[in-house]
Order: sequence, then C-alpha cells, then structure tokens
Amino acid sequence: MPKRPLPQPTPETQEFWDGARRHELRLQRCNACGRAYFFPRPFCPRCASDDVGWFTASGKARLYSYVISHRPAPGFKDDVPYVIAVVELEEGPRMMTNIVGVEPKPENLPIDLPLQVTWERQSDEITLPLFEPSGGAP
Ligand SMILES: [Zn+2]
Repeated sequence: MPKRPLPQPTPETQEFWDGARRHELRLQRCNACGRAYFFPRPFCPRCASDDVGWFTASGKARLYSYVISHRPAPGFKDDVPYVIAVVELEEGPRMMTNIVGVEPKPENLPIDLPLQVTWERQSDEITLPLFEPSGGAP
C-alpha cells in the first residue's frame, strides 16, 4: 500500500516519472533561451518557445528553503517530523521535495547545504526524488 498520496503521471510528466523509475532526474531545457525548468510542460515558462527537450540532470542541488513539519499528514504518519523543502537544482530549477538522511533539526539544515538526489520507490508507477546531504549525515 502506498505510504502517501501519489502524484498521477500525465502525458506532460510521463517522461519525468519514467526517468525517476530508472533513478534519472529528467528535466526539460528550452533550446531557444537555454533555460532549464521544472515542472514539465510543453512550452518554455520564460520565453514561451515550444522548442524544448529533455535531459538528465546531475541530481545535485542546494537547500533553498524548508520547514520542519511535526504535524502528521495523511500518509506521512511514519515520518513525523519530516522536512518539506525547496531545493535549487544545479541546473537552476527549484523543486519541492523532502530532505531525508539527516535528523530534522535546524542546525543540520543550513541554507545552501549541498544535497544530492536519492530515490524512494512508492509504487510500480511512482518513484519519488528526495534529497539528502551530499556529504552524508553530519
Ligand atoms: Zn525559453
């Protein structure tokens, strides 16, 4: 049984979820202006070009902002407290995710903390990209 409510792949996001199953972080990049972006969509959010393509991101990121949640949410009961974060990927896009592999305390979560993607299989369809400190837990 899934531990938490799962995203539903759509035609626009199927490539992202297919990549996640292979542990590849798939992003799109605009060939007109060169900007990488997330979440997937058929037009560049910056210049509206439809000349866009997929590539595999490095999986490296930095902590941009976060909250430590102590409130059990549906499907999150086993994980309290947990870290809901926005990370800035090396390629530029920001992504909402969870930080794992570290005690959820502010002293362990300085802004700009180097992170790397890690994968958590949820179902046959969905593997979620989560992030952990790239130097391992302090
Ligand atoms: Zn563009």
